[in-house]
Amino acid sequence: MGSDSLSILNATKATPIPVQEEDPPNQSTALLSFNTDSSSGPPQKPTTTIVFISLLLITCIALAAAGAFAFLFFSSPSSQTPSTAHIESTARPLSKLRHPVVILISSDGFRFGYQFKTATPNIGRLIANGTEAEHGLIPVFPTLTFPNHYSIVTGLYPAYHGIINNRFADPHTGEIFTMASHEPKWWLGEPLWETVVNHGLKAATYFWPGSEVKKGSWNCPLKFCRNYNGSVPFEERVDTVLGYFDLPSSEIPVFMTLYFEDPDHQGHQVGPDDPEITDAVARIDRMIGRLIQGLEKRGVFDDVTIIMVGDHGMVGTCDKKLIFLDDLAPWIEIPGDWVQSHTPLLAIRPPPGVSPSDVVAKMNEGLKSGKVDNGKNLRVFLKEELPSRLHYVASDRIPPIIGLVEEGFKVEQKRSKRQECGGAHGYDNAFFSMRTIFIGHGPEFARGQKIPSFENVQIYNLVTSILKIQGAPNNGTQSFPQSILLSSP
Ligand code: AMP
Ligand code: ZN
Ligand code: ZN
Repeated sequence: MGSDSLSILNATKATPIPVQEEDPPNQSTALLSFNTDSSSGPPQKPTTTIVFISLLLITCIALAAAGAFAFLFFSSPSSQTPSTAHIESTARPLSKLRHPVVILISSDGFRFGYQFKTATPNIGRLIANGTEAEHGLIPVFPTLTFPNHYSIVTGLYPAYHGIINNRFADPHTGEIFTMASHEPKWWLGEPLWETVVNHGLKAATYFWPGSEVKKGSWNCPLKFCRNYNGSVPFEERVDTVLGYFDLPSSEIPVFMTLYFEDPDHQGHQVGPDDPEITDAVARIDRMIGRLIQGLEKRGVFDDVTIIMVGDHGMVGTCDKKLIFLDDLAPWIEIPGDWVQSHTPLLAIRPPPGVSPSDVVAKMNEGLKSGKVDNGKNLRVFLKEELPSRLHYVASDRIPPIIGLVEEGFKVEQKRSKRQECGGAHGYDNAFFSMRTIFIGHGPEFARGQKIPSFENVQIYNLVTSILKIQGAPNNGTQSFPQSILLSSP
């Protein structure tokens, strides 16, 4: 990266995410027991002493028995009960692999909480024996697939990695970026596969937005990289990744990605609360089971680090929750060709000569007037005036006017007879419905550890720390991996 982009990055370093601290010892309990045991009362008589000694003996025997039972229970290999009492303090040594290996899995649109919809024994196994963001992983804004997947692998907010939407226009050339654009000029920053190859190590991608882009040291090699094809069965994706572990040890990629379109695909069609989602979640769980079994068969499950995430959540949408730009005509006409994206991220670039602040003022006047259906559920901003927590300003690819819509609402150009209910994402990342999952399992992740929610830009540093390689500058913090990973022995 050039020094200019570096200084931008440094100037906009993400605020460190607070790390949950251990509860301080309960002082009132400690004082209470001190008082009870204190000898400030009358002197003890001999009979009281005998009773006391007998009680003490019985208690000791009971405690010993309980201890033996607990040892047998927790040391049983089939036990998956998380136990904070047993959280290790050092990383577990590798037994078979020569180098740490990270498999980064994305289940698209896996809203936080989906894991409770049905029995998910395999995801549950990773959670029980690994580290979980207890209230989910926070996506970046906008909570869309391409911006988020690329933030996960670069540690950069979209304004810095350049993929500011699934579709947008280059403000200088007018050229359109789509999910099929693989020219390196769109994709800024350094994704993990490139960092890994820069260190003379091998990386493999079984789909990930940006992975087909040949950039820097990464040339998307045939052996370890696929052009996106959504019809490849999930089983084939898992089995291909497993096959990498059959290579000679110096050939095994140290970083692998694995991507599943579900349950996002179903979420858009039927919304988050439908039996179809439950089935999709169960299927993802079976894929995780297939991966675990394959790794176990090869004797590497305990050596491999699995990081399972989603890119964003999902919220139900319905035709009653619509806002039509044409309804703003009495205040200002917004032609369709000013609008780069309607929903849930409203992005408007008026032509030269039209003042963006004027457009914002008139739109908000109309929206607040009470005369526009659902108007109060949309607020437009000059991008410079968006809340700074969204980090959505520092790129000229971001159009000057951005609208934030309330959860579940959608913006359309004009009224139509279309009646539809389904699901969407792309909203403010502060909405809980946009949260997704984070699970880390492997030698550096404590078993049964629960951590507070954090933003996905932290994952880049987490992976480089596990792989013990130097990462590129990014918006994550160095203190994050140190706070959640087990220290090396
Ligand atoms: P979204 O429209 O934000 O819900 O995006 C999800 C969709 O992105 C998936 O259903 C896929 O069709 C598509 N997608 C995911 N990965 C890729 C990729 N590497 N290349 C092209 N399209 C992709
Ligand atoms: Zn997605
Ligand atoms: Zn989607």
